[in-house]
Amino acid sequence: MNDARKPSLRHYTLKCSYCGCQYDDDGMILDCPADHEPALLRTQYADRGFHPFTDRNGIFRYQRWLPVIGTQPDAGRTTVYHSSGLGGILRLPNLWIAFNGFWPERGATLETATFKELEACTVLGRLPVSDVILTVASSGNTGAAFAWACSRQQVSCLIIIPEKGLRRFRFRGSLDPCVKIVVIDDGDYPDAIELAAAVSRLPAFLSEGGVKNVGRRDGLATVLLSAFEEIRQLPLYYFQAVGSGTGAIAALEAAKRLRNAMNDTVLPRLMLCQNLPFTPISDAWRMNLRSPQGSADDFRNAIKQVYADELTNWMPPYAARGGVYDSLTESNGDTLVTGNVAAQLAADAFLELEGIDIEPAAGVAVACLQGAVAEGLVERDAVILLNITGGGRQRLAREYSLVPAEPKMRLSCKFLSEDTVHQVAALCGRS
Ligand SMILES: [Zn+2]
Repeated sequence: MNDARKPSLRHYTLKCSYCGCQYDDDGMILDCPADHEPALLRTQYADRGFHPFTDRNGIFRYQRWLPVIGTQPDAGRTTVYHSSGLGGILRLPNLWIAFNGFWPERGATLETATFKELEACTVLGRLPVSDVILTVASSGNTGAAFAWACSRQQVSCLIIIPEKGLRRFRFRGSLDPCVKIVVIDDGDYPDAIELAAAVSRLPAFLSEGGVKNVGRRDGLATVLLSAFEEIRQLPLYYFQAVGSGTGAIAALEAAKRLRNAMNDTVLPRLMLCQNLPFTPISDAWRMNLRSPQGSADDFRNAIKQVYADELTNWMPPYAARGGVYDSLTESNGDTLVTGNVAAQLAADAFLELEGIDIEPAAGVAVACLQGAVAEGLVERDAVILLNITGGGRQRLAREYSLVPAEPKMRLSCKFLSEDTVHQVAALCGRS
């Protein structure tokens, strides 16, 4: 807890969204130490005003609202522009695109082609200098973003992913040996989360923490900060495809911060999009449940059928204080769903209308926006922000000869045990 005799060394403190206690940040804390129900910590910045460093291009432009020490001059950020192509077809005159990925003509330089690069950059910027091994569980994109960022910054990390995520691990160069990738051949994202959690309990390993890491959320929050700078107001609707919903929670946190800074009154309505038949967040919201329902077998079966497998977290931070349920409620938001064919057609249409390939998750968001327009769920003249969470992967592959990453170990779900945990630790030189 804050010690009044000791000034904070960082330009922010952490505040618990449940009990309100405030803490100095050591760069690693993920939870409020008080004994209460799960609740997210939030950053409280000394500078409550919105004051970007206008001479910086990347996300460190927003460093006053990032929980980081130091800067990374080569970091990228979200490109925001007014859409005439998709906006024209949908007859939405105030549709804005927040593009995250690789699209050099638009100044988009995220080399792992998704907005996960924003969070990796901020999480690493938050870490104190130490010899811990950062442990990351991912369905693919987050792991790729961390692998590339850790490799470039020489930060030791262990990345655990299901096999189907490995295809996203293709980079402009070879990874530094400080990055160790472990693949679960027959596993899904939650299996990776479970194994990473077990390894993180060993000394020397540090869980990256997912949604609980304020670095992740405030890194993703820069999507909305970039949008605010470009549009000069908050959008009325914010469309994003969600797996865990971390990006959506972060968007609302950013909107609240901007509202306080600019004396604005309206928060964007979060419109959260999922890919049928894997829709645990939408199902819980529509049925007014406080947590997603379903067996692991049901979810595994649904995962096999979806186009956007990066959206397949069946343990999203839905019920935690400050989590998805609270964010949907506070923003007067809603959930939308779409099928595989519609999402694929939407991605094709985006390429034709806007001129860049997009990831399956972004295709889901475009299809859900189309559906919302068709059903009259949004006013035609409303300011709408569509988060294209990933794109330009094919563009990147045309530009560079990409190097596939080699996993250091392959495992099967059937044989995961305490011994496996120690084998994985030994791979990183610790056991
Ligand atoms: Zn607390």
